[in-house]
Amino acid sequence: MVGGIRAVERCDALKRPPYSQGADMLFRPYLSAAHDATIAQLTAWMSEAGMTVRLDSAGNVVGRYEGAGDKSLIIASHIDSVRDGGAYDGPLGVMLGIEVVAALNAQNIRLPFAIEIYAFGDEEGSRFPASMLCSRAVCGQIDASVLDVADRDDVTLSAALESFGLSRDTFLTARRDPSELIGYLEAHIEQGPVLEAEGLALGVVTSIACQKRFEVTVTGVAGHAGTNSMTLRKDALAAAAEMILAIEAVAQAGPEDLVATVGRMAVGPNAPNVVPGEVVFTIDVRAGTEAPRDQAADAILQRIQQIAAKRETPASTRLIHDLPAAPCDPSMMDKLSRAVTSMTGKAARPIVSGAGHDAMAFAGITPTAMLFIRCKDGISHNPREAVDPVDVDLAFRAMLAFVQDLGTTDE
Ligand SMILES: [Zn+2]
Repeated sequence: MVGGIRAVERCDALKRPPYSQGADMLFRPYLSAAHDATIAQLTAWMSEAGMTVRLDSAGNVVGRYEGAGDKSLIIASHIDSVRDGGAYDGPLGVMLGIEVVAALNAQNIRLPFAIEIYAFGDEEGSRFPASMLCSRAVCGQIDASVLDVADRDDVTLSAALESFGLSRDTFLTARRDPSELIGYLEAHIEQGPVLEAEGLALGVVTSIACQKRFEVTVTGVAGHAGTNSMTLRKDALAAAAEMILAIEAVAQAGPEDLVATVGRMAVGPNAPNVVPGEVVFTIDVRAGTEAPRDQAADAILQRIQQIAAKRETPASTRLIHDLPAAPCDPSMMDKLSRAVTSMTGKAARPIVSGAGHDAMAFAGITPTAMLFIRCKDGISHNPREAVDPVDVDLAFRAMLAFVQDLGTTDE
């Protein structure tokens, strides 16, 4: 078997030791023994598909299939996983890239450009407190300060690179010159329920959502839970609860791609017999473009102040994170949509990715396209992650048609 079916089989094979650090769960952190074993296996698969293979200075496996010209189309995704993760988030995009090259090689087809398959060592940030380390290194969007971040065992990135046979001195040289590239393609499971709900195998990403994150501190008055009457207390947690429902209402009233989440909360003093005196919580707001996100964020901050004033529980808000949207390239998107339609017989579903992906880094340096594959119940970061091999094979065929279309209409 080849194509999408084999891509799924190979992801399944990588679920177990030595490709996973856990015997009964998948965990493949960056620069681990499991990562090393996966590099060896990928090197074999890429070579067999007709590529020359190297390990770059950031620990990415890079397979190159030569074309008539020197420039490259990068097809990529990541091979690290979260702890107790699923088999397809990341590796599936790499395996599909290998299948595309294997198919071209089997038919002796050379395109006007080279294809380079990148298997990024870190995207999830599951070892070091920094995500997309590898794609950001390749895109030149990272600086040397990152080398000093440490994992939970206090091993710095710098030390981990050394013990992997790499070097802190050359880590940043993984950077590619954008003038060598014609574009970037990434296939990934959707990690959401939209395609499944609409009965579609594939979707074409229009943009990776922009994010804004805030930290809110609500100050009430702590007091005895038995003696403070309901009319006189200033309960910071009750105020925060009203704020959270208001945040949800703002997001529900917005466009489909607008989402807002309160995911973390700390209650002080956090005791059963004390009226909460202080609550700190985070708000994460995302949308496909900046305007609706900013509009929602403004409305949320305004509602928070109204509730704070009404309840006499002052709230201070702080912006802690502001990430711009990463739009996909319109021309690449058109070509990918055409390829999807020709394989599925259905119009390609445009979809905003609420989750971050390696494609975000590349959107800053080269035309980028992203293909989403339906996954069961929208589940990811979970061993129950599942795909239908039939869908994955459609993805493979669409990707093959897409690269051949690029070959005939570009350059
Ligand atoms: Zn992923």
